[in-house]
Amino acid sequence: MPEAVPVIAVDGTAGSGKGTLARNLANELGWHYLDSGALYRAAGLAVLQADTDPDDGAACGGIAQAMQVEIETRPESIRILLDGTDVTTRVRAPEVGRVASRVSVHPEVRRALLDHQRAARRMPGLVADGRDMGTVVFPDACLKFHLIASLEVRARRRQHQLEEMGINARLNTLIDELNQRDLQDMRRGESPLVQAPDACLIDTSEQSIEEVHAKARACLPGILTPSDKGTHP
Ligand code: C5P
Repeated sequence: MPEAVPVIAVDGTAGSGKGTLARNLANELGWHYLDSGALYRAAGLAVLQADTDPDDGAACGGIAQAMQVEIETRPESIRILLDGTDVTTRVRAPEVGRVASRVSVHPEVRRALLDHQRAARRMPGLVADGRDMGTVVFPDACLKFHLIASLEVRARRRQHQLEEMGINARLNTLIDELNQRDLQDMRRGESPLVQAPDACLIDTSEQSIEEVHAKARACLPGILTPSDKGTHP
Protein backbone atom coordinates (compact mmCIF):
# COMPACT_ATOMS: atom_id res chain seq x y z
CA MET A 1 0.00 0.00 0.00
CA PRO A 2 1.42 3.46 -0.88
CA GLU A 3 2.45 5.56 2.09
CA ALA A 4 -0.02 8.35 2.87
CA VAL A 5 1.12 11.86 2.00
CA PRO A 6 1.81 13.64 5.32
CA VAL A 7 -0.40 16.60 6.22
CA ILE A 8 0.01 19.33 8.82
CA ALA A 9 -3.34 20.93 9.69
CA VAL A 10 -3.43 24.52 10.95
CA ASP A 11 -6.89 25.64 12.09
CA GLY A 12 -8.08 28.69 13.93
CA THR A 13 -10.13 31.83 13.96
CA ALA A 14 -9.79 34.65 11.41
CA GLY A 15 -6.70 36.72 12.15
CA SER A 16 -5.17 34.16 14.53
CA GLY A 17 -2.05 33.92 12.36
CA LYS A 18 -2.80 30.47 10.95
CA GLY A 19 -2.20 31.50 7.33
CA THR A 20 1.22 32.97 8.13
CA LEU A 21 2.27 29.95 10.17
CA ALA A 22 1.01 27.46 7.56
CA ARG A 23 2.72 29.27 4.66
CA ASN A 24 6.00 29.54 6.54
CA LEU A 25 5.97 25.87 7.55
CA ALA A 26 5.21 24.85 3.94
CA ASN A 27 8.09 26.99 2.65
CA GLU A 28 10.48 25.64 5.24
CA LEU A 29 9.59 22.00 4.57
CA GLY A 30 9.23 22.40 0.80
CA TRP A 31 5.66 21.07 1.07
CA HIS A 32 2.52 22.20 -0.76
CA TYR A 33 0.28 24.78 0.89
CA LEU A 34 -3.52 24.90 0.89
CA ASP A 35 -5.36 28.10 1.85
CA SER A 36 -8.84 26.60 2.20
CA GLY A 37 -10.28 30.00 3.14
CA ALA A 38 -9.42 31.18 -0.38
CA LEU A 39 -11.69 28.46 -1.76
CA TYR A 40 -14.57 29.54 0.48
CA ARG A 41 -13.92 33.16 -0.45
CA ALA A 42 -14.00 32.21 -4.15
CA ALA A 43 -17.33 30.46 -3.53
CA GLY A 44 -18.62 33.58 -1.76
CA LEU A 45 -17.54 35.76 -4.67
CA ALA A 46 -19.14 33.39 -7.22
CA VAL A 47 -22.41 33.57 -5.25
CA LEU A 48 -22.20 37.38 -5.17
CA GLN A 49 -21.50 37.56 -8.90
CA ALA A 50 -24.42 35.25 -9.68
CA ASP A 51 -26.65 37.48 -7.52
CA THR A 52 -27.76 34.37 -5.62
CA ASP A 53 -29.14 34.35 -2.09
CA PRO A 54 -26.19 33.33 0.19
CA ASP A 55 -28.69 31.61 2.50
CA ASP A 56 -29.94 29.27 -0.24
CA GLY A 57 -27.86 26.15 0.42
CA ALA A 58 -28.81 24.20 -2.71
CA ALA A 59 -28.16 27.14 -5.05
CA CYS A 60 -24.85 28.01 -3.36
CA GLY A 61 -23.79 24.35 -3.46
CA GLY A 62 -24.51 24.25 -7.19
CA ILE A 63 -22.38 27.35 -7.74
CA ALA A 64 -19.52 25.99 -5.62
CA GLN A 65 -19.66 22.72 -7.55
CA ALA A 66 -19.62 24.43 -10.96
CA MET A 67 -16.99 27.12 -10.33
CA GLN A 68 -13.46 26.55 -11.55
CA VAL A 69 -10.92 27.71 -9.00
CA GLU A 70 -7.19 27.58 -9.44
CA ILE A 71 -4.92 28.58 -6.59
CA GLU A 72 -1.33 29.17 -7.63
CA THR A 73 0.88 29.16 -4.58
CA ARG A 74 4.39 30.57 -4.59
CA PRO A 75 6.62 30.90 -1.51
CA GLU A 76 5.88 34.62 -1.25
CA SER A 77 2.45 34.96 -2.82
CA ILE A 78 -0.78 33.30 -3.80
CA ARG A 79 -2.84 33.91 -6.95
CA ILE A 80 -6.51 32.95 -7.14
CA LEU A 81 -8.30 32.46 -10.43
CA LEU A 82 -12.09 32.10 -10.52
CA ASP A 83 -13.37 30.83 -13.86
CA GLY A 84 -10.18 32.11 -15.49
CA THR A 85 -10.29 35.61 -13.93
CA ASP A 86 -7.68 36.77 -11.42
CA VAL A 87 -9.64 37.52 -8.22
CA THR A 88 -6.68 37.54 -5.80
CA THR A 89 -7.42 41.02 -4.43
CA ARG A 90 -11.18 40.91 -4.87
CA VAL A 91 -11.66 37.84 -2.63
CA ARG A 92 -9.93 39.64 0.28
CA ALA A 93 -12.59 42.39 0.36
CA PRO A 94 -14.54 42.42 3.66
CA GLU A 95 -17.83 42.05 1.76
CA VAL A 96 -16.60 38.79 0.16
CA GLY A 97 -15.41 37.51 3.56
CA ARG A 98 -18.89 38.09 4.99
CA VAL A 99 -20.58 36.20 2.15
CA ALA A 100 -17.95 33.42 2.33
CA SER A 101 -18.81 32.95 5.96
CA ARG A 102 -22.54 32.73 5.14
CA VAL A 103 -22.17 30.26 2.27
CA SER A 104 -19.72 28.10 4.24
CA VAL A 105 -22.47 27.04 6.67
CA HIS A 106 -24.20 24.98 3.95
CA PRO A 107 -23.37 21.25 3.82
CA GLU A 108 -23.85 21.41 0.01
CA VAL A 109 -21.05 23.97 -0.27
CA ARG A 110 -18.72 22.11 2.08
CA ARG A 111 -19.26 18.86 0.19
CA ALA A 112 -18.61 20.61 -3.14
CA LEU A 113 -15.22 21.88 -1.91
CA LEU A 114 -14.07 18.70 -0.21
CA ASP A 115 -12.53 17.00 -3.26
CA HIS A 116 -10.76 20.18 -4.28
CA GLN A 117 -9.13 20.44 -0.85
CA ARG A 118 -8.16 16.76 -0.71
CA ALA A 119 -6.66 16.97 -4.21
CA ALA A 120 -4.03 19.33 -2.75
CA ARG A 121 -2.60 16.41 -0.76
CA ARG A 122 0.43 15.64 -2.87
CA MET A 123 3.97 14.49 -2.22
CA PRO A 124 6.15 15.42 -0.47
CA GLY A 125 3.50 16.78 1.93
CA LEU A 126 0.82 19.40 2.54
CA VAL A 127 0.34 22.17 5.08
CA ALA A 128 -3.34 23.13 5.07
CA ASP A 129 -4.97 26.04 6.89
CA GLY A 130 -8.62 26.65 7.61
CA ARG A 131 -11.32 25.88 10.15
CA ASP A 132 -11.82 22.11 9.76
CA MET A 133 -8.54 20.84 8.32
CA GLY A 134 -7.71 18.68 11.33
CA THR A 135 -11.27 17.66 12.19
CA VAL A 136 -12.98 16.91 8.84
CA VAL A 137 -10.85 17.36 5.72
CA PHE A 138 -7.64 15.70 6.94
CA PRO A 139 -8.52 13.98 10.24
CA ASP A 140 -5.47 11.74 9.79
CA ALA A 141 -3.07 14.73 9.65
CA CYS A 142 0.21 13.82 11.35
CA LEU A 143 0.37 17.13 13.19
CA LYS A 144 -2.43 19.56 14.07
CA PHE A 145 -2.33 23.10 15.39
CA HIS A 146 -5.21 25.18 16.68
CA LEU A 147 -4.43 28.89 16.80
CA ILE A 148 -6.27 31.48 18.85
CA ALA A 149 -5.76 35.16 19.69
CA SER A 150 -7.79 37.82 21.45
CA LEU A 151 -10.48 39.58 19.45
CA GLU A 152 -8.77 42.96 19.71
CA VAL A 153 -5.39 41.66 18.55
CA ARG A 154 -7.01 39.91 15.57
CA ALA A 155 -8.98 43.03 14.66
CA ARG A 156 -5.78 45.12 14.72
CA ARG A 157 -4.04 42.59 12.47
CA ARG A 158 -6.97 42.65 10.05
CA GLN A 159 -6.97 46.47 10.09
CA HIS A 160 -3.30 46.45 9.21
CA GLN A 161 -3.84 43.96 6.36
CA LEU A 162 -6.67 46.08 4.95
CA GLU A 163 -4.54 49.25 5.21
CA GLU A 164 -1.91 47.53 3.11
CA MET A 165 -4.61 46.96 0.49
CA GLY A 166 -5.55 50.66 0.65
CA ILE A 167 -8.78 49.97 2.60
CA ASN A 168 -9.53 51.96 5.77
CA ALA A 169 -11.67 50.25 8.38
CA ARG A 170 -12.63 51.23 11.94
CA LEU A 171 -11.36 48.96 14.71
CA ASN A 172 -14.76 48.65 16.39
CA THR A 173 -16.39 47.63 13.12
CA LEU A 174 -13.73 44.97 12.58
CA ILE A 175 -14.15 43.68 16.15
CA ASP A 176 -17.91 43.31 15.58
CA GLU A 177 -17.39 41.60 12.23
CA LEU A 178 -14.79 39.16 13.54
CA ASN A 179 -16.97 38.36 16.51
CA GLN A 180 -19.92 37.63 14.24
CA ARG A 181 -17.76 35.50 11.93
CA ASP A 182 -16.35 33.53 14.90
CA LEU A 183 -19.84 32.77 16.14
CA GLN A 184 -21.00 31.73 12.68
CA ASP A 185 -17.95 29.47 12.19
CA MET A 186 -18.25 27.91 15.66
CA ARG A 187 -22.01 27.43 15.77
CA ARG A 188 -22.72 25.97 12.34
CA GLY A 189 -23.96 22.39 12.33
CA GLU A 190 -21.61 21.20 9.56
CA SER A 191 -17.85 21.21 10.26
CA PRO A 192 -17.89 23.87 12.98
CA LEU A 193 -14.63 25.46 14.07
CA VAL A 194 -13.60 23.38 17.09
CA GLN A 195 -10.22 22.36 18.39
CA ALA A 196 -9.37 18.80 17.33
CA PRO A 197 -8.69 16.75 20.49
CA ASP A 198 -5.21 15.94 19.21
CA ALA A 199 -4.32 19.52 18.15
CA CYS A 200 -1.63 21.64 19.84
CA LEU A 201 -3.15 24.91 21.04
CA ILE A 202 -1.14 28.10 20.42
CA ASP A 203 -2.33 31.48 21.68
CA THR A 204 -0.65 34.01 19.36
CA SER A 205 -2.01 37.17 21.07
CA GLU A 206 1.26 38.18 22.67
CA GLN A 207 3.64 36.43 20.31
CA SER A 208 5.53 37.51 17.24
CA ILE A 209 5.38 35.57 13.98
CA GLU A 210 8.85 34.20 14.75
CA GLU A 211 7.84 33.05 18.24
CA VAL A 212 4.76 31.24 16.94
CA HIS A 213 6.83 29.62 14.21
CA ALA A 214 9.45 28.48 16.72
CA LYS A 215 6.77 26.95 18.93
CA ALA A 216 5.27 25.03 16.02
CA ARG A 217 8.70 24.13 14.71
CA ALA A 218 9.52 22.46 18.02
CA CYS A 219 6.74 19.91 17.33
CA LEU A 220 8.10 18.93 13.90
CA PRO A 221 11.07 16.63 14.57
CA GLY A 222 8.83 13.97 16.04
CA ILE A 223 6.76 13.65 12.86
CA LEU A 224 9.41 14.05 10.20
CA THR A 225 11.55 11.38 8.67
CA PRO A 226 14.35 12.50 6.31
CA SER A 227 12.29 11.43 3.25
CA ASP A 228 9.44 13.77 4.28
CA LYS A 229 11.59 16.78 3.43
CA GLY A 230 11.11 17.93 -0.12
CA THR A 231 11.75 20.82 -2.45
CA HIS A 232 8.99 23.32 -3.08
CA PRO A 233 7.48 22.76 -6.55
O1 C5P B 1 -9.71 31.98 6.40
P1 C5P B 1 -10.58 33.05 5.77
O2 C5P B 1 -10.92 34.16 6.68
O3 C5P B 1 -10.05 33.51 4.46
O4 C5P B 1 -11.95 32.27 5.44
C1 C5P B 1 -13.09 32.94 4.97
C2 C5P B 1 -14.34 32.25 5.53
O5 C5P B 1 -14.46 30.94 4.94
C3 C5P B 1 -14.31 32.00 7.04
O6 C5P B 1 -14.90 33.03 7.78
C4 C5P B 1 -15.08 30.73 7.22
O7 C5P B 1 -16.45 31.01 7.43
C5 C5P B 1 -14.95 30.01 5.89
N1 C5P B 1 -14.04 28.86 5.96
C6 C5P B 1 -14.56 27.66 6.37
N2 C5P B 1 -13.78 26.54 6.39
C7 C5P B 1 -12.49 26.61 6.04
C8 C5P B 1 -11.92 27.84 5.64
C9 C5P B 1 -12.72 28.97 5.63
O8 C5P B 1 -15.74 27.58 6.72
N3 C5P B 1 -11.77 25.50 6.04
